[in-house]
Amino acid sequence: MANDVRQDAEAGRWNYRPEIPLSDPSVFSWPPDPRFLARWIAQNWLSLSERVMMVIVAVIAWALFYPGLDQAQNLAPGWILRTWLVNVGLMLVVAGGLHWYFWGAKRQGKALKFDHRDQTRDNGQFLFRDQVRDNMFWSLTSGVGQLTAFQVIIMWAMANGYAPVITLSDAPVWFILWLVLLPIWSAFHFYWVHRLLHVPFFYKRFHALHHRNINIGPWSGFAMHPGEHVLYLSSLLIHLIVASHPIHLIFHVIYQGPGAAMTHTGYENLLIRDKRRLALGTFYHQLHHRYFECNYGNQEMPWDRWFGTFHDGSEAATSRTRARKKQMYT
Ligand SMILES: [Zn+2]
Ligand SMILES: [Zn+2]
Repeated sequence: MANDVRQDAEAGRWNYRPEIPLSDPSVFSWPPDPRFLARWIAQNWLSLSERVMMVIVAVIAWALFYPGLDQAQNLAPGWILRTWLVNVGLMLVVAGGLHWYFWGAKRQGKALKFDHRDQTRDNGQFLFRDQVRDNMFWSLTSGVGQLTAFQVIIMWAMANGYAPVITLSDAPVWFILWLVLLPIWSAFHFYWVHRLLHVPFFYKRFHALHHRNINIGPWSGFAMHPGEHVLYLSSLLIHLIVASHPIHLIFHVIYQGPGAAMTHTGYENLLIRDKRRLALGTFYHQLHHRYFECNYGNQEMPWDRWFGTFHDGSEAATSRTRARKKQMYT
């Protein structure tokens, strides 16, 4: 039986496909399984995972690079420009570094690469007729610009007492817990915004731009229409209501911006001496980019399963998704 599933037509459409059906690693499975939760915490927070690395970068950037709240009381150009420069730098290092590693220098060849193809060149669908340059353009203009605008408004609100601020010594437990909860909040927010963006009216105007990237690379993650950036980045507004430290805001900024490059590498893991060292892209979202009307959320959230839009990687799921797409557009 398992063999039949692995040898369906879907397998032939990929250079690499993980084991299917895709598993259900949702933290919301019922009844709660303490062993699963312990493993989830260990994988995400007690090892050098994507999230832990982002927190480390957030702390360093907070201490060394970003302006402090003491400077943010007035909307003066100096600290705003500095915030923007740090964000441009982070985007260039993360997306540029991953692009160079996987697609430029091809350091990992085709190992764990989902799609057979290279990034698209000489195609009039993209600005400059080049997928990578087009994606860089949208990420570095509207993307980093709006990311900075959201961050600046929230910093200004925090500095003036309009948004609740905590320190590590005031609330150490909440400080840690909020770091763990932020990606879950972000995924919850992303799912609903993303469903809205797939309503044909919004899809055509905003979201189609991100979806020109069927074969995705690191720069595709944050390459969105300005209208989509507003919706996607509104996740950050939670800091106007929920008590946060500037490190939480910076972690969230990194998660939404440069983090999107990490989830769109087109590869499943970073291999070091043939060992999977860092989980980067997911087949789950790669399927969304190829078949559109499935896997709107991420694998940790139960929504796609609950609402019947889950693609488990099989041929049967592809047929179901194609039928749904047809129905939505007729
Ligand atoms: Zn995407
Ligand atoms: Zn989409």
